Amino acid sequence: MQNTIISVKNLKKSYGSFEAVKGISFDVYEGEIFGLLGPNGAGKSTTLEIIETLRQKTSGEVIVDGMNLDEEPDKIKRIIGVQLQSSGFYPGLRLVELIDLFAGLYNRQVEPMELLRLVNLEDKAKNKYKELSGGQKQRFSIATTLINKPKIVFLDEPTTGLDPQARRNLWQLIKDIQAKGATVIITTHYMDEAEQLCDRIAILDEGKIIALASPDKMIDDLVTSGFERPKQVKAANLEDVFIHLTGKEIRDE
Ligand code: ADP
Ligand code: MG
Repeated sequence: MQNTIISVKNLKKSYGSFEAVKGISFDVYEGEIFGLLGPNGAGKSTTLEIIETLRQKTSGEVIVDGMNLDEEPDKIKRIIGVQLQSSGFYPGLRLVELIDLFAGLYNRQVEPMELLRLVNLEDKAKNKYKELSGGQKQRFSIATTLINKPKIVFLDEPTTGLDPQARRNLWQLIKDIQAKGATVIITTHYMDEAEQLCDRIAILDEGKIIALASPDKMIDDLVTSGFERPKQVKAANLEDVFIHLTGKEIRDE
């Protein structure tokens, strides 16, 4: 039996007369990487931000690690790590200074260099945030989610806009976070990423969950239904070619 760490029941969110989330229910299991997929505007960020205590729901029930969102939002905040949009950082502060700042906010003791090593940014410790490349900024923002040693980490499109090397580097980082025992909830528009990383995914469309299963099960079900790809699948794809030609090393230094 899997332990449920997040339970969402009949969650609804309206913005004025527009219902963005239309009564969704799902459980996230402890220790899994759970993906929330769906087209733009499906309600992914709204759903995450409600669970993160950053946005008010209209109705429904959310339980996070045994705590009811309506009753103990402050306790929930203490056990989660939320990836902030990059604009949330002071651009002129050095990475070590930013980590110290966050540690102070969370009232936590952290070893900034250890944290930076985890995301491959040791060399940049004395650099200012604004001096980082796109991939480095993403890795740094993930590092900041780990400062309070969270049980659950929320990542909203962490790899959007990254080159293939930086993206794969981030996948490894996310797997490492899971290996340390954390639960990860991630949104992405990259299906290969969801297939690689996620134990289970929910597909959201126009505010409703239209499928929820492991990637493997979803693919098997589609094939069983008689679906066939129009073309023979090749043993490699263009991304394999790109990585083969340009190497696995991250280049955003
Ligand atoms: P996703 O993350 O899946 O792209 P969002 O949760 O950001 O979707 O948005 C879901 C829908 O709610 C969209 O139609 C969006 O325009 C709308 N929406 C999001 N935030 C607001 C807001 N603060 N006010 C009004 N509408 C919003
Ligand atoms: Mg979004």
